[in-house]
Amino acid sequence: MQVRISFPRRIFDLMMPRLCTVCHERLGITEDSICMACNLHLPRTAFCSSPYDNEMAQCFWGLMPIEKAAALFYYLPHSPSSGIMLKMKYEGRWDVAEDMGHIMARECGEAGFFDGIDVIVPIPITKKRKRERGYNQSYHLALGISEATGIPIADKAVERTVYNGSQTRLRGYERRENVENAFALRDAKKIKDKHVLIIDDVVTTGSTIMECGKELLKGGAKALSVLSLGYTK
Ligand SMILES: [Zn+2]
Repeated sequence: MQVRISFPRRIFDLMMPRLCTVCHERLGITEDSICMACNLHLPRTAFCSSPYDNEMAQCFWGLMPIEKAAALFYYLPHSPSSGIMLKMKYEGRWDVAEDMGHIMARECGEAGFFDGIDVIVPIPITKKRKRERGYNQSYHLALGISEATGIPIADKAVERTVYNGSQTRLRGYERRENVENAFALRDAKKIKDKHVLIIDDVVTTGSTIMECGKELLKGGAKALSVLSLGYTK
């Protein structure tokens, strides 16, 4: 497929070469955030091809009615996949999140993952956290997905009321308690009778998804599915 590149972008690319988020080599003019070689080497999960039954979907079995679950890649510490996450979470690179959203939309879209989805809800962060970081990385993932699929975002449907510190050092059962009642339903109109796709950056135990999902079900969501950038085994 031939990609048309606008004149301003060509000029901008000459003056301000963009670098790959992973290998820091110069990006080609048609590449966004990540070069083709690094993209090919991401440890993909292939969950999109069996969204109803995979190890991520199984996290929710017996706990919450999650229809489809998928993640683009396995999140591994000190690897290119964690490098991408650090950039979009802690280094102000919301644009990386949007580009990754485009990739998720393209690959999962080909597998029909978005069929039947009515609305996208990114996992919210607290107002305090948003003030500190300036943006919600999951919102920008959702924005990339929404741009590519045309599915609208309902980002004010649920609010995050409590932030209990970074979860990265906690064990599974501690994480579960750590997010308990961290979300509150704000605008049920946007999700009532809809099949909602929850978007998160990384899913580990699924406890954050379940806490947020609880509020969405309370608001009358018809069905819930989950898509994340990374999945931790
Ligand atoms: Zn690269």
